[in-house]
Amino acid sequence: MSAKIRLYVEHPLGQGQSVHLTREQAHYLFGVMRLGVGGQIALFNGLDGEWLAEVAEAGKRGGILTCVDQTKPLHLPPDLWFLFAPIKKARTDFIVEKAAEMGAARIMPVQTEFTNSERIRQDRLQAHAVEAAEQCGGTYVPEVADLQRLDRVLDDWPEGRQLMFCNEAEVGSALRLAANEKGQPWAILIGPEGGFSDRERARLVALPFAHVVSLGPRILRADTAAVAALTMWQQALGDWA
Ligand code: SAM
Repeated sequence: MSAKIRLYVEHPLGQGQSVHLTREQAHYLFGVMRLGVGGQIALFNGLDGEWLAEVAEAGKRGGILTCVDQTKPLHLPPDLWFLFAPIKKARTDFIVEKAAEMGAARIMPVQTEFTNSERIRQDRLQAHAVEAAEQCGGTYVPEVADLQRLDRVLDDWPEGRQLMFCNEAEVGSALRLAANEKGQPWAILIGPEGGFSDRERARLVALPFAHVVSLGPRILRADTAAVAALTMWQQALGDWA
């Protein structure tokens, strides 16, 4: 049996396990969703899969749920980092939501030379990733990292991780992701509204782990490019097949 409401909790889940709710969670379940004692809900914590739970106690400031049955095993996404330059607030929120839904394992906002924003609200973006996982049936929530300079991320690049570099200078070219072994660590990089600087582009193209790709014959907005790149990668190398 599956419950309609899904909630991410930072709490171990298992047969008979009691889960104590925070004030916000209690408000959402009992105030907004009108659940009462005996009501059912699906819980996940990014580690133990999804569990059907029942409301054992419901209060204004808290409550207790009891785990009844595991309804899904943990499904980890492929080892894919999603790097993007933050743009306007609503569009950045959209990018984080889509990256979480589409199966990125880690979401990494990066500051490039032409990035408009110098800071992000990491906690807000993380909450968007949680909400996306709750609504898409995922059992895993990608971590949203703090904003880091792209140069710094490239300086510390881990050995063995490939990079799909979405380069707007290749618009209309035939450069696509070549066949590669599945199951390897990868990353995708999408630039800001202003694109990459010549210096950044020269560095990226020369990296031995970079795979330069075109996303077709038109320049896409950064949020569209994010979805297109994730689709392309998931189709070729991810867990869609
Ligand atoms: N202002 C830039 C220009 O006119 O060339 C466009 C930047 S685009 C709005 C934002 C990002 O989306 C780019 O940095 C790139 O990563 C990605 N992108 C958009 N269209 C693309 C395409 N056709 N091929 C490869 N990457 C693309």
